[in-house]
Amino acid sequence: MNDVTTSIDPAGRLATVRAAIADAARHAGRDPDDVTLVGVGKRHPADAVIALAQAGLVDFAENYVDEALEKIPAVESRVPDLAARLTWHYIGRIQSNKTRAIAEAFDVVHSLDRVKIAERLSGQRPEERPPLVCLIEVNVSGESTKGGVPPEAVPELAAAVAALPGLSLRGLMALPAPDTDERRQHAAFERVRALLDTLPDTTAPAMLSMGTTADFPAAIAAGATHVRIGTLLFGPRE
Ligand SMILES: *Cc1c(COP(=O)(O)O)cnc(C)c1O
Repeated sequence: MNDVTTSIDPAGRLATVRAAIADAARHAGRDPDDVTLVGVGKRHPADAVIALAQAGLVDFAENYVDEALEKIPAVESRVPDLAARLTWHYIGRIQSNKTRAIAEAFDVVHSLDRVKIAERLSGQRPEERPPLVCLIEVNVSGESTKGGVPPEAVPELAAAVAALPGLSLRGLMALPAPDTDERRQHAAFERVRALLDTLPDTTAPAMLSMGTTADFPAAIAAGATHVRIGTLLFGPRE
């Protein structure tokens, strides 16, 4: 970690982010309690996660399986009582040779975009754990470099995922192309929210995972239930 990150108190950063989320929710006429903060810890050490967990954050996300497979057990062994209350979210690209690790280590997967991967995750979810909560990732900006399915492919994938016993389909995730214009950000998030209507009824209450450091107020205005914040919470990544 660099000096900037270590010199600012994690509890202070958490309070600042929570206040900004509450402001955005109230501005949109929403209850701040309906927006869950998920801390994105990629390329930050277990120490940084532990500090935020000690300050009261319970939802953490990771993008890279190998990194998570070191970090999660490190957190669990060092602060077992705290770790028992944490929820781990997987938000990265999913390779088929990593599905077993994801099904075993995580509670929620936000980045589902293929039936094959869904089938593997379902079959590999340990029987003693509840079904793996899954969101379908929508490639709302049509970027070829990003994961996610095009909006028109959501209903078919959703129907297939909903039929798998090891998974519990709960909603959608999106990471729109960066855009500094808040109205365009909002329009992209609105397109994702509209797709919730195409999910099977069993999906309720729906989760809508959208919004990062750069655009979370617009995401909250468009109905996000989960915002995924890295930089603003953990400081800059190396
Ligand atoms: C890195 C990442 C985030 C967090 O981005 P910040 O700009 O650091 O807040 C959120 N979602 C996904 C999918 C990411 O990869």
